[in-house]
Amino acid sequence: MTKGNGIAMEDVKEHTGATSVEELLKMPTPLSSTVVEYIWIDGTMENCRSKARVVTKRVTSVDQLSKWNFDGSSTGQAGGEDSEVILVPKAIYRDPFRGGQHLLCMCECEDPFGNALKTNSRRAAAKIFEDPKVKGEEPWYGIEQEYALLDAKTNWPLGWPEQGFPGPQGPYYCAVGANKISGREICDAHFKACLYAGLNISGTNGEVMPSQWEYQIGPCTGIESGDQMWISRYLLERICEMAGVVVSLDPKPIPGDWNGSGAHTNYSTKSMRADGGMAHIKKAIGKLEEKHMEHIKAYGEGNERRLTGAHETASIDAFSWGVANRGASVRVGRDTERDGKGYMEDRRPASNMDPYVVTSLIAKTTILS
Ligand code: ADP
Ligand code: MN
Ligand code: MN
Ligand code: MN
Repeated sequence: MTKGNGIAMEDVKEHTGATSVEELLKMPTPLSSTVVEYIWIDGTMENCRSKARVVTKRVTSVDQLSKWNFDGSSTGQAGGEDSEVILVPKAIYRDPFRGGQHLLCMCECEDPFGNALKTNSRRAAAKIFEDPKVKGEEPWYGIEQEYALLDAKTNWPLGWPEQGFPGPQGPYYCAVGANKISGREICDAHFKACLYAGLNISGTNGEVMPSQWEYQIGPCTGIESGDQMWISRYLLERICEMAGVVVSLDPKPIPGDWNGSGAHTNYSTKSMRADGGMAHIKKAIGKLEEKHMEHIKAYGEGNERRLTGAHETASIDAFSWGVANRGASVRVGRDTERDGKGYMEDRRPASNMDPYVVTSLIAKTTILS
């Protein structure tokens, strides 16, 4: 398709020219087109990949986007001879990097016959969330994503003495001050990017290990939780890339007397949120206890290095729960106990867990089994 000889000057906002890369990046783009960044989970199942596509229309709903494809042999997702992987658009958000009408799109990966790839955990999760019993319970999730920031050259936590250690944990959690905090601008830039994108980010805080941070995404209903979590991780990677800092989602980035990183998953169903919900919460906790090992297997690689029973964790081998107990597998908050309804917190998932897997397994265990 050619546009002929004409050029529609009115299709871009006024532009007075650019003399640097930074200024070029801020130039207006044609109003009639949308740049969509297609995002997917790669063969590691922990990292995202993405590529951009121009769509010559305005996009307001994900159904307006067509499928696309990529070379799966370069992402650990296909062999060399038959390498085409299909991207299926599933959820769109505003793009804080390009701004304007431009979008980020979370995608599923399938083969040319429409079968989900092995790395596509979203397909199975969506199926669970489409079950009428699960749908009827409107499961809500609030996920607390903890992460550590590392210096890109040394792979050592940001702001730590070179080849050495800061003073012991205690002064750093939710702290202020240059002797206690590093990377706040990254945490805050990410907070804003999530808000702009349209994610249900509910807060952020400095964590117990210096240069460790947390943000929470939620409450989100059903599959939306996984979609928003993956987009939030993508945003974090992009922002850290700009800052030349490495994000670590390792469950225990520094061995020894340093807190690991988790992804506490706060969860409720319609029955738990309604009057008398505490009975439903207790029943669900009972089911989680029965399937403890099945859940542990799905809660992230290397979680055994984190769930030691120390550093605000429960032991990986035994299930426990308690009100206001941060050393338990599952915690019920004081508000929930007082009100007799509310939500629970599954403290077992590791920072590198797949939110599609964790959220859908919790729904399956507590609602379908
Ligand atoms: P913590 O006290 O463990 O640090 P946070 O405040 O970091 O907890 O995170 C709690 C998360 O739980 C937030 O994302 C919040 O939106 C979410 N949340 C609140 N109410 C519910 C609910 N009824 N069901 C599920 N998640 C909820
Ligand atoms: Mn928290
Ligand atoms: Mn935390
Ligand atoms: Mn928590």
